[in-house]
Amino acid sequence: IRHVPHASPTSAEARRALMQNPGFGKVFSDHMVTFTWNAEKGWHDGEVKARAPFAIDPAAAVLHYAQEIFEGMKAYRTKDGIVLFRPEENARRMAQSAERMAMPPVPEDMFIDAVETLVRTDADWVPEGDGSLYLRPFIFASEAFLGVRPALQYIFCVIASPVGAYFKGGYKAVTVWVSDDYTRAAPGGTGAAKCGGNYAASLIAQAEANRNDCDQVVFLDAAEHRWVEELGGMNVCFVMDDGRLVTPPLGGTILPGITRASVLLLAREAGLRIEERPYSFEEWKADAESGKLREAFACGTAAVVAGIGEVRFNGGSFTIGNSGDGPVTGRLRDALVGIQRGTAEDRHGWVHRV
Ligand code: PMP
Repeated sequence: IRHVPHASPTSAEARRALMQNPGFGKVFSDHMVTFTWNAEKGWHDGEVKARAPFAIDPAAAVLHYAQEIFEGMKAYRTKDGIVLFRPEENARRMAQSAERMAMPPVPEDMFIDAVETLVRTDADWVPEGDGSLYLRPFIFASEAFLGVRPALQYIFCVIASPVGAYFKGGYKAVTVWVSDDYTRAAPGGTGAAKCGGNYAASLIAQAEANRNDCDQVVFLDAAEHRWVEELGGMNVCFVMDDGRLVTPPLGGTILPGITRASVLLLAREAGLRIEERPYSFEEWKADAESGKLREAFACGTAAVVAGIGEVRFNGGSFTIGNSGDGPVTGRLRDALVGIQRGTAEDRHGWVHRV
């Protein structure tokens, strides 16, 4: 990856001011990594250079047919230096997304090299404390062509954004809205791919959730509107009174979360019995009301693990457990955050030093 010097990097003083209270996804680091792809050369011309707008043709296929995929991951500042969490899993998922969207996959070593190069170049942008540097690798179809077929030119890019803790001032349970008008993904569709189009289609449901004072939307399955699938940007798990942890299976309609996979392994090691199986909204409601369901939580890169306190839907609502963050949720979060932040032993080799 060729280094193109930045003409006017942000001063240390301005950077510190920007990183005071960064929120999510509003502040960006100085650099970006780019590669281009064509059929003849494959991925080539890797560069790390000043973050700047792209010049793309108005006929670029991404603007018309949404051939675009992305990833989301974080770099953390720990006592042992800057680390990534399971980046090879993001690389693998991006390759799977690419396959589904008829795009050229980025090889795992190129993906890791791109992310590491950006983090090293912009190491000063990795926050101290409970913030992190959010990394956004993405690929889009840049070919100028209006025919409907897989494009013949692509750009792979990685940008970075310092972000604060998802929960400011301590964890609190989230409230979720169960959408009955909208679904996210149908069998055979793109639900398991991290493509921009999935998120475009989810925005109206997320807006409905926000109108109902909820933090996140819960999607039910498209075929029967019966089975719980996932939230707008997180997977979901249910903790039962008999030591079972139930979570919807990866059947192609939900995103295979890296946090989900990690939490399931930690939960199994902690003695919970894992059931990856369809769980209906009716069961959810009945189990919450009977007390059989002790805790529910959402999990994903952004919030790590967040308890679900209240569930709202057209015509009613119910609460879960003590409406707060339950003990199993808290323990799983502490275990995972400990590994990510270098305060707990990394027995699985999940932490990748940059
Ligand atoms: N589901 C959806 C729809 C998401 O956007 C995300 C965030 N990438 C997740 C689940 C959680 O995935 P991960 O744990 O890999 O962040």
